[in-house]
Amino acid sequence: MKKIAMVDLLGQYQRVKPDIDQAIQRVLDSAVFVKGSEVKDFENELAAYLGVKHVIACGNGTDALQICLMALGLKPGDEVITPNFTFISTVEVSALLGLKPVLVDVESGTFNMDIASLERAITPKTKVIIPVHLFGQCANMDEILRIAAERGITVIEDVAQALSADYTLRIGKKVKAGTMGRMACTSFFPSKNLGCFGDGGAIMTNDSELAGTLSAITHHGMRKRYYYDLTGVNSRLDNIQAAILRVKLRHLDEYSAARNEAARYYDHALGSIKGITIPERSAFTTHVFHQYTIKLNEIDREALMKHLESRGIPSMIYYPFPCHLQQAFKYLNYREGDFPVTEALCKSVLSLPMHTEMDEEQLNFICNSIIEFVSPKS
Ligand SMILES: *Cc1c(COP(=O)(O)O)cnc(C)c1O
Repeated sequence: MKKIAMVDLLGQYQRVKPDIDQAIQRVLDSAVFVKGSEVKDFENELAAYLGVKHVIACGNGTDALQICLMALGLKPGDEVITPNFTFISTVEVSALLGLKPVLVDVESGTFNMDIASLERAITPKTKVIIPVHLFGQCANMDEILRIAAERGITVIEDVAQALSADYTLRIGKKVKAGTMGRMACTSFFPSKNLGCFGDGGAIMTNDSELAGTLSAITHHGMRKRYYYDLTGVNSRLDNIQAAILRVKLRHLDEYSAARNEAARYYDHALGSIKGITIPERSAFTTHVFHQYTIKLNEIDREALMKHLESRGIPSMIYYPFPCHLQQAFKYLNYREGDFPVTEALCKSVLSLPMHTEMDEEQLNFICNSIIEFVSPKS
């Protein structure tokens, strides 16, 4: 059996090696490493794939979020709502810009932003809502967009874990994750569903004026060469990464299909095991399984992880500790107990190996090892 990895980036590379190698060589031969045509071409190809007017590439997903917030001209203390059960970026960039991160709880089943908690968290100072499409399926965008539109709040989607997911709007129209908010951010970190061989990120928007501002901010706030209209940053995708991403974008739908196939195997094998809850699917979104995350009930998580590890099976806890109790955000004055669902999830979730190269032998071995631990034959 092939060694089991959380993410098999080598296996994925080997499948498309001639195309990737050729793409990298093309950039090396051009000796244009920054601001080349590969980046422009990739932006256009991703825009066409998603069905969005503008894609602005940048250095990473966290920068993308920061740049979106910078483009809105917010005032210190303006409030940015983000889910608590997530990666730290959304909270971090809000704090960094002098804005106030406001956390909301999530749904226990889908792990995505809870709408009732969102409504309770809104104040006159709320300027932005950042739903994170966690683990590969979209948050309830119909409700989030309605709530935001009624109050003139900007929505920025964090689609770093759900690029290529489809969302069916209440009106029946099917759109891609990352095309519904006023802006959306994604990451091309190697382990993401569309990953490069280093760092990378992008912003999506249908607003052409905003696209110009976002693009300027990524280049030091410069519109005309050496004239700075805005305070910007230096955040760019390089030509080699763009060339790699152009190859991998052509395979993104196959990658999502492979992840779904692995997820179906897990569902089938683990769905009826006592003490294990398989990931819930929302009706309005497809799932692209950035993670396959189960919940454990009265099963010793640490011991299960050790058991799996002893069989050469990695597993990970995304996320072990909630944002509101992190040392860096103590000043927000949240307390233990403020976010019961997030706190319970941090104690009960476990993510299993999930990638595009999983085979049946590996899946079978992983599931049997879990079952053997949970319900040992006497
Ligand atoms: C990975 C990730 C980010 C950050 O992306 P980087 O490219 O690592 O900066 C932000 N939000 C979510 C939900 C992520 O998973």
